[in-house]
Amino acid sequence: MGGVAVVTGGASGIGAACCRALAAEGMAVAVLDLGDRADAVAAEVGGRPYSADVSDEAALSACAARIEAEMGPVSVLVNNAGIIQAPLRPSALDMKLWDDVVRVDQRGVWLGCALFGGRMVGRRRGSIVNIASIVSLRATPLHAYGPAKAAVAAMTANLAAEWGPAGVRVNAVSPGFVQTPALQAEIDAGRRDLSLISGSAPLGRTVGMDEVAQAVVFLAGDRASAITGVNLPVDCGWLAASGWATYGGLRGPEGANA
Ligand code: NAP
Repeated sequence: MGGVAVVTGGASGIGAACCRALAAEGMAVAVLDLGDRADAVAAEVGGRPYSADVSDEAALSACAARIEAEMGPVSVLVNNAGIIQAPLRPSALDMKLWDDVVRVDQRGVWLGCALFGGRMVGRRRGSIVNIASIVSLRATPLHAYGPAKAAVAAMTANLAAEWGPAGVRVNAVSPGFVQTPALQAEIDAGRRDLSLISGSAPLGRTVGMDEVAQAVVFLAGDRASAITGVNLPVDCGWLAASGWATYGGLRGPEGANA
């Protein structure tokens, strides 16, 4: 693909997989994360590490300027940085957690779009992929995270319409359950159940990090040149099966002919 890609939250999980996949396509990758967390993945993929909190406008603006000064114009942005939450009752969801989730998952994606996308618009070239979630498309007990991810899907469509005339595409990928450090921490803490997760997906398993990254690479690149404003699920079929619980859940494989 060539050119410069920025991946926010690139030090871990899905973001790190996106860094590897974009580098494998020939892109120079700016790995953006908190503190010095980006160093290892940047070294691994031959890219450069950058430090910024995506929800901090001044810090992200300075980081965008530094990346373009040091690496050249950014043609691909993956807004991946995000934090997840436990499935708390509304009465147990304190506003500090709500604010943190919305600040990083919604405000952070908006700032990434505005600060990097604005530069792409000026050049009439660029592609943005926002990482939303299947919870952007179904009701779940994630009362801060779900609405924040639905906002990511909405801003993806809005900006696709806004910036399409300027030659900038904006799409989203909505992963299902991916066994990243973030999800593994929830499983380890007993707040997610791996057998329930796998059992509610027709493919019977979690999604691989690289499977999400391959969808990101596709939407980011020229093979998707006519695609903008979509929210693509990569979920082992979880969304398709979400109406089956009323009928006793998924039924396992139908008999195969010998
Ligand atoms: P992860 O392993 O925790 O990786 C996220 C990375 O983003 C971490 O390195 C994290 O740093 C960093 N980060 C957090 N807040 C940041 C901020 N304010 N500024 C810059 N970087 C920040 O998480 P993941 O599971 O790969 O999730 C990546 C994205 O996929 C998120 O948007 C998440 O909502 C989405 N997603 C995940 C799943 C899943 O099942 N895993 C499903 C659907 C969607 P720290 O570790 O220091 O916080």
